[in-house]
Amino acid sequence: MNIPITDVSPFATGDTTPVNPEITCSNCQACCCRLEVILLTDTGVPDYLIDEDEWGGEVMRRLDDGWCAAVDRETLMCTIYDRRPQLCRDYEMGSPECEDERKENGLDQ
Ligand code: SF4
Ligand code: SF4
Repeated sequence: MNIPITDVSPFATGDTTPVNPEITCSNCQACCCRLEVILLTDTGVPDYLIDEDEWGGEVMRRLDDGWCAAVDRETLMCTIYDRRPQLCRDYEMGSPECEDERKENGLDQ
């Protein structure tokens, strides 16, 4: 969910485990932006992009195609990158979760 604009370092958390250099957001299809994103803190996500889950919590709205409403459908980039939720900031490109999501969505790796 680093999508978009720029790829971040896969070592952002200080983890020095090498990751597959073939895995970048720029050859992905915003796979992780189909996951449910709970809003834990206020990062300035606009109200029209927020939904309520069944427990009354705030989540990013998703459209019928499954993607987060903030994804630009043409570029597959995040349109609120500077205001994206904390979960999106913490989701690391090249992490095991990222790799799993790519595979779930039909990418080779
Ligand atoms: S699944 Fe991984 S590679 Fe794809 S957009 Fe998300 S962080 Fe980037
Ligand atoms: S807010 Fe941005 S990074 Fe987070 S799921 Fe939506 S499009 Fe992806």
